[in-house]
Amino acid sequence: MLVENLNDVEERVKAACDRAGRDRTEVTLIAVSKTKPVSDLQVIYDQGVREFGENKVQELTGKIEELPKDINWHMIGHLQRNKVKYIAKDVSLIHSVDSYRLAEEINIQAKKAQRVIPILIEVNVAKEESKFGIAVEEAIELCRDIATLDAVKICGLMTIAPNVVVAEENREIFRKIRDLSVDIDNEKIDNVNMSILSMGMTNDFEVAIEEGATHIRVGTAIFGERNYKL
Ligand SMILES: *Cc1c(COP(=O)(O)O)cnc(C)c1O
Repeated sequence: MLVENLNDVEERVKAACDRAGRDRTEVTLIAVSKTKPVSDLQVIYDQGVREFGENKVQELTGKIEELPKDINWHMIGHLQRNKVKYIAKDVSLIHSVDSYRLAEEINIQAKKAQRVIPILIEVNVAKEESKFGIAVEEAIELCRDIATLDAVKICGLMTIAPNVVVAEENREIFRKIRDLSVDIDNEKIDNVNMSILSMGMTNDFEVAIEEGATHIRVGTAIFGERNYKL
């Protein structure tokens, strides 16, 4: 079941890359494994996937303990400052930075862990009130501020598009964040690059790929529906 799901997602990723005239290697598939048991992650790992995404610190650190060391772990959920210390050593990329204060804490913990932590700026393109992320208009200034911190490295942008029925409805959102990414890149800010565009989930990853996503975050299509009551 999981293997079939993964193969199906892979086929769809390839087809979207073909449609967009992009090479498959330009798109990184992150398997979003939140709420799922490590046995499920192990199945996907055995298929060669090395990028996993989690949205809760405690779950992330628990799974890091139990699974092979060559996994790249992505923190994709809202991150509280007092929890940064638990993931600073092992996280590969934090997708959800939307304030200077959070970046400042990541900087402190990165120094303690004697490393530089790659981060993305989360942008709330759709201006949904329920969502975290900085407004499009404020993103450049936030990048400038965070760029002064020497143990964090801004590598791009992330957005969570609205939960729509028809994926096509999110195309405009993906275009907007891609445009923003180009604008920020043109500012040529020291210590900032815009190589990563993290966008697209189960319902809309194909449109996201067509609009330039470099990292897609896919949970349900790989692992099945999540049961939050368990
Ligand atoms: C849960 C989650 C995903 C994956 O969602 P699916 O619709 O299950 O693919 C992607 N990104 C973030 C930030 C998430 O929290």
